[in-house]
Amino acid sequence: MTGIESMLLRRGVSVDQVSEIVFSLQRPYNADLTMKECEESVRAVLAKREVQYVMYTGIALDELAEKRLLPEPLQSIMETDESLYGVDETLALGITNVYGMIGLTSFGYLDKVKPGIIRQLNVKGEHIHVFLDDIVAGLAAAASARIAHQDPKAIRYHLPDSP
Ligand code: MG
Repeated sequence: MTGIESMLLRRGVSVDQVSEIVFSLQRPYNADLTMKECEESVRAVLAKREVQYVMYTGIALDELAEKRLLPEPLQSIMETDESLYGVDETLALGITNVYGMIGLTSFGYLDKVKPGIIRQLNVKGEHIHVFLDDIVAGLAAAASARIAHQDPKAIRYHLPDSP
């Protein structure tokens, strides 16, 4: 397991859980899609340096907030998951941007619907996951877009047919 995967696991998220979301996003466009392909796609996204930098930054802020080490007003904003904050979504766009517009629209969808592990991360408990829920949505959206870009059928589906 790579360092970035064990960092995710430490925060309660497995590659499997992200892959399940990728599968649910891409399966309607690709009947041959397997979970294994989704896992490979998630790992390919996780291997990108710019993706790792977003993750280091967001997860560090979540962990510092849990230890109550952030300066005010940031500490209070993180503890209440202030809805107008928005920096968590903005940071996670650094992950989806790697794969263009399909990644962006999927990210918006996941942020609204919050399937699977994304919803679990939004349940208030002892942990603070202000950044992690958006990071996971960004990872799933990027891995999904990566699959779509590699699949000619999916690209035809996502782009309007030429006359
Ligand atoms: Mg958030």
